[in-house]
Amino acid sequence: MTSFIQNLARKTAAAQLRDDPRVARVLDILRNTASATTDEQIRITEIPAPSFHEATRAAYFKKQLSGAGLRVETDTTGNVIGVWAGTSPDIVMLTAHLDTVFPAGTDVHVKREGGRLLAPGISDNGTGLAALLALARALGEAKIKTKMTILFVGDVGEEGEGNLHGIRALVDTYKSQLKYVIALDGSAIEYVTTAALASRRVEVTIEGPGGHSWSDFGTPNPIHALGRGIGRFVASRIPEVPRTSFNVGEIEGGTSVNSIPSRASMKVDLRSESDAELNKLEGLLRDAMKTGVDDEMSAARDRGMAGSTSLLDLKINILGIRPSGELPENSPLLAALLAADSQLGNRSRRERSSTDANIPLSLGIPAISLGAGGRSGGAHTLDEWYDPTGRELGLQRVALTVLGVAGLEQ
Ligand SMILES: [Zn+2]
Repeated sequence: MTSFIQNLARKTAAAQLRDDPRVARVLDILRNTASATTDEQIRITEIPAPSFHEATRAAYFKKQLSGAGLRVETDTTGNVIGVWAGTSPDIVMLTAHLDTVFPAGTDVHVKREGGRLLAPGISDNGTGLAALLALARALGEAKIKTKMTILFVGDVGEEGEGNLHGIRALVDTYKSQLKYVIALDGSAIEYVTTAALASRRVEVTIEGPGGHSWSDFGTPNPIHALGRGIGRFVASRIPEVPRTSFNVGEIEGGTSVNSIPSRASMKVDLRSESDAELNKLEGLLRDAMKTGVDDEMSAARDRGMAGSTSLLDLKINILGIRPSGELPENSPLLAALLAADSQLGNRSRRERSSTDANIPLSLGIPAISLGAGGRSGGAHTLDEWYDPTGRELGLQRVALTVLGVAGLEQ
């Protein structure tokens, strides 16, 4: 009975949204300004914003949000927060990450090839940031009034070693009023992220005495030890269900071809649908690296080179932890998204991924991550591209979802 009444109430809310002329106006504006939104996306993309160095892009983003009529502030973490005041203190947070995975000095000039725009970061997260600004402008122009307060946020430190520090700070600040979080990330509208993928980033460092490749041969070699450990680790058996993955993504060490290095290190990304499997995987990595070091040491002993002066030192350092979590099946946020999809004739499947939504989801705050329309490919590579064809559909989907949970006021 309760769920019958809930469903009825939701259908009524969706119908109200569909029939409200102000909402229709928002959808029109988003369609009519789609090409201006693409121009905005290009301007944003051409301002470099590696994680921890987002300030210049953040300042530009702040200016645009102010221009849309919002009261805007920057918090001590560097997040830019624009306030769209509702009649209730409850908050819907719409957020897009400002940072990119590309280091300072990367050429971020946008090139055109046919209908495509090419530049590192053009879609991830130029699409999300441009969509967020477009929606803030459209709500103002359509003179919408909402029940809940909407925070329009550009957050820092989503990528890589940023370790979601921006969204962590935001959730901490607003948690008592925070009802929903919607993260805009990339372009895809054929799926929605409703579950957080747990991940762990680990740095492994091995240090030794070093020496000459010929005269000191037999001295334990940190790169050899690392290689032995990697060989063991990547041969680990991991489950298909729950899906689990690992990746050695960076490796460093050594100074010249004829020197025994004194140091070798690597960075490893571990992911799983299950926290328990992730713990197991970290255990496998630790065991494999320890065995790799032991094997290299025993090879050194066999060559008569072991001793207190030729020990290897293994250090394992956790760089980042992203917790898991799931949006409940009966969440009004999921209902709002499904209503938006049905109104726009879009079909989307549900996915588990590692995004800004991880943090609220892990704390039981309903959250999703949405693509903001158009098509894209090559994310996190220098060949990243974006095609704005059909982007209005994604923009409208975001608008209907946000307004669906925020609620309209007359
Ligand atoms: Zn992203």
